[in-house]
Amino acid sequence: MTIDESEGRARCRSCRDEFVLEDMFLLCPCGSADVEVVSGRELLVTSVEVA
Ligand SMILES: [Zn+2]
Repeated sequence: MTIDESEGRARCRSCRDEFVLEDMFLLCPCGSADVEVVSGRELLVTSVEVA
């Protein structure tokens, strides 16, 4: 079993949907940018922004 770190996943705080990040865009298909990264390399970016 291999973890695919290249695939980032995020959860939308607006519609609560979980989706796969594509092209490093933190944008939910519903149009909301209020998303939380749950896995993937983008998680590092989010950590920096929070700090
Ligand atoms: Zn959404």
